[in-house]
Amino acid sequence: MSAPRVTLAPAERTTADSLPVLYLKRREDRRVRLGHPWVFSNEVDTAKSPLVDLDPGETVQVCASNDTPIGVGYVNPRSLICVRMLGANPRIRLDRAMLSHRLRRALALRTRIFSRPFYRLAHGEGDALPGLVVDRYGDVLSVQIGTAGMERARPDVISALEELIGPRAIVLRNDLAGRTLEGLSIEVETASGTAPERIEIEEDGIRFLVSVLGGQKTGWYFDQRQNRQRIVPYVAGARVLDVFSYTGGFGVRAAVGGARQVVCVDSSRPALEQLEENARLNRVEAVVQTLPGDAFHVLKELAAAGERFDVVILDPPAFIARKKDIKRGTEAYQRINRLAFGLLEPDGFLVSASCSSHLSRERLRGLLFSAARSQRRALQIVEQGHQGPDHPIHPAMPESEYLKLYLTRSFRPGVAPVINGSVSDRADLPLPPQGIGTS
Ligand code: SAH
Repeated sequence: MSAPRVTLAPAERTTADSLPVLYLKRREDRRVRLGHPWVFSNEVDTAKSPLVDLDPGETVQVCASNDTPIGVGYVNPRSLICVRMLGANPRIRLDRAMLSHRLRRALALRTRIFSRPFYRLAHGEGDALPGLVVDRYGDVLSVQIGTAGMERARPDVISALEELIGPRAIVLRNDLAGRTLEGLSIEVETASGTAPERIEIEEDGIRFLVSVLGGQKTGWYFDQRQNRQRIVPYVAGARVLDVFSYTGGFGVRAAVGGARQVVCVDSSRPALEQLEENARLNRVEAVVQTLPGDAFHVLKELAAAGERFDVVILDPPAFIARKKDIKRGTEAYQRINRLAFGLLEPDGFLVSASCSSHLSRERLRGLLFSAARSQRRALQIVEQGHQGPDHPIHPAMPESEYLKLYLTRSFRPGVAPVINGSVSDRADLPLPPQGIGTS
């Protein structure tokens, strides 16, 4: 039996072909009607609209149990996220014209913000393009297709990007783990043109080499750009530890910003080799050092050796990839932050980020506070950071606000602060209210 077809109003019948209908169970339509772009498989009325009748990536009309159309989306019957909505208009299709229109709108935002062509051009649901990420490295585009629905539209994605940007090359970095859940193959290929081995980008005057074919994700983490800028006032003359450094987004920035010494820790040797090259490219190799290894282990060793830093930056990978990892992942954040506080000079700055959408901003703040307390330090939150504006947040989707960063100062109550580079003779910092910051 095939899925029931939706009947469209006469005005729509002329432009829209009919689609299979997917019915939601009673009361399961609320979240989607409020604009959340996902339907989970347990919300579908499979008796009325069997999922087995649908092919992965097929476009459907989603209806509430009372027959009210909610919108159009594409399905993947095998995935827990069963439908990704494309919009409320019943005529919406994931075709060349729609992709072109939405990519153009995404580009208009980026060109308004950035003077140079280095940014995330399309950010999935945040740009109403579920399953599609496009990073722009000048005239080279690095694309990730994450869902069966977007995979079906691959030729249209490529041709829409070719028309919009006229790139030298389009690389498909389809090696993201989520593709397996969608039943898609893991592959890296060049979809058009010829991609150079590495490409130079620039962030606020600092040069970085990006490996679009072999680097992590699409090659570069654009989401931290503004947070990298944020650290500059705190690093002049400082001894800085950049943990989970990758190719030096923070560390090289700190060195150019006048840090006395920067030690960068990462478990990926290729990333650290690239970091060293990035340091040379910006003529700061004399102050930048790399330490390969597991961050938890390296930080313990640094502490045992009595090393101390004025600024510690923590930008770990997502320790909580899925809901079931929440407990273990939260503990990992706690441990790494505690280790970081243990390495800070008495009056130091900890910059601590989390890119796990399952760890809320409040939870991160709470665990920073308790990690500071466990090291007998008072804590001030000085600045807060987010993912950059080229990673727009979907307003109905709290999980799309995934990147959180706190820039904190922490100190030992009673220890004199450093003022203009020298220790002042009076401890004139406001002490925390009684009981706060000391245990
Ligand atoms: N701060 C970087 C991005 C960090 S991405 C920037 O601004 O560009 C997270 C990094 O953590 C990756 O480079 C990955 O290689 C590294 N990593 C993952 N697990 C690690 C571990 N246990 N110890 C050290 N590094 C780790």
